[in-house]
Amino acid sequence: MKTMIIDVAVIGGGPAGLAAALGASESGVKNVAVFERSNEAGGILRQCIHPGFGLSYFSEELTGPEYSERFLKKVWKTPVRVFTSSMVLSINSDSSLSVVSRTEGFIRVKYKALIIATGCRERTRGAIQIPGDRPSGILTAGLAQWFINMEGRKIGHHVVILGSGDIGLIMARRLILEGMLVKGVYEINPWSAGLNRNIIQCLYDYDIPLYLKKTVINIHGKKRISGVTVCDVDENQNPVKGTEEKISCDTLLLSVGLIPENELLTGANIPLNKKTGGAEVNQRYQTIRKNIFVCGNALMVEDLVDRVTVHGLEAGRQAARFITGDMELMETECFIVPGETVHAVMPQRLTGKVNNLNVSFRILRPVRTGILQLVTDKGRIIGEQKISNAFPGEMQNVNFEKLDMSRASNLLRLNLVERDG
Ligand SMILES: Cc1cc2nc3c(=O)[nH]c(=O)nc-3n(C[C@H](O)[C@H](O)[C@H](O)COP(=O)(O)OP(=O)(O)OC[C@H]3O[C@@H](n4cnc5c(N)ncnc54)[C@H](O)[C@@H]3O)c2cc1C
Repeated sequence: MKTMIIDVAVIGGGPAGLAAALGASESGVKNVAVFERSNEAGGILRQCIHPGFGLSYFSEELTGPEYSERFLKKVWKTPVRVFTSSMVLSINSDSSLSVVSRTEGFIRVKYKALIIATGCRERTRGAIQIPGDRPSGILTAGLAQWFINMEGRKIGHHVVILGSGDIGLIMARRLILEGMLVKGVYEINPWSAGLNRNIIQCLYDYDIPLYLKKTVINIHGKKRISGVTVCDVDENQNPVKGTEEKISCDTLLLSVGLIPENELLTGANIPLNKKTGGAEVNQRYQTIRKNIFVCGNALMVEDLVDRVTVHGLEAGRQAARFITGDMELMETECFIVPGETVHAVMPQRLTGKVNNLNVSFRILRPVRTGILQLVTDKGRIIGEQKISNAFPGEMQNVNFEKLDMSRASNLLRLNLVERDG
């Protein structure tokens, strides 16, 4: 078996992996390699042919393929090597990877630092346990996006969409443009899980109804789906008896959440955070195995690729600092956990000196105005930021400047305290 020696190895050639490779290379690491299982780099962006990408990073509105091409061009100007059709099978205990590659065969890749950027996958019917028949015509929104945008197939005629995540909203518009009828988007929560701009541009602009506090409780059909039963849900998301309604359709699209793709981490015994589904990391994107870093949707599912790029670049720089010995290797000094109104937070650990702290988090319910606080276990506030118009469907990012870590405790809670008006 061939062995390859790499300074910084990156798993995944999506936006996060490419940014991480660029970040490491621009920090002076000569020997950087990306391993991507598909036959092309670019990740999920390859199938996202709609505009709306790059507004903050490139200050321009690009489609997914345009965004990824821009980024690949930057990578091609560096010595970074991108191995496509190369799937990482395992992370081994001796700082090596087992990789099967169309061009290289079965190889062992020895690395000094590893960055995991394997993206996420969609929740399926099984994950949300919808009862009923098992006909064809039930697809996740991302799979439908692949069939339509990449393979030029028509997936059906009359469509019901369950879940108002961004991919579902974007696909609702796509289906209309492809000549299909979208009967409605059904969302179990009292709010949409997608970005506000997508609700307006993809639903309201096309007169597609959005039904809140409703879900699908049954699927009908023998060979092909012929309809679904929808109903109202109460505040605990339980079906309300007597509100059932049968909707005929030949396709059901599911846009009911994304899960970080982390089988490789589990195999390497790196603990996952229950709330984010990704690895537990410190403010340097570093896991408990100090030479392993994680970024992108594999760490915490982001809404906007621009943010993924920013995180990826930083993870690459941190991996470079690790291998050049420019990083103090200290143990975790404190942990950050979600507090009031906060569902999930990243990073979960702080290590070494922290002055400016960038925190990504998701909230449990919409908040018009509030104060985000980092609070010690004794109730002392060590950092504070104002927040306005925050929605559960949107990832929040906040920078705490000049944190007073001398007053921190071993456990910090991230609270979002709601304020009137
Ligand atoms: C279906 C779908 C549609 C989306 N649409 C939009 C959108 O319209 N707008 C938007 O801003 N965001 C969208 N997103 C969010 C999007 O995921 C992020 O913006 C961004 O693409 C995440 O980048 P990433 O590199 O973390 O993950 P990805 O883009 O998913 O890239 C991960 C890469 O890792 C590779 N990989 C995984 N495991 C291995 C392995 N073992 N070995 C080698 N390679 C591996 C995969 O093949 C993939 O190329 C969408 C996400 C999904 C899932």
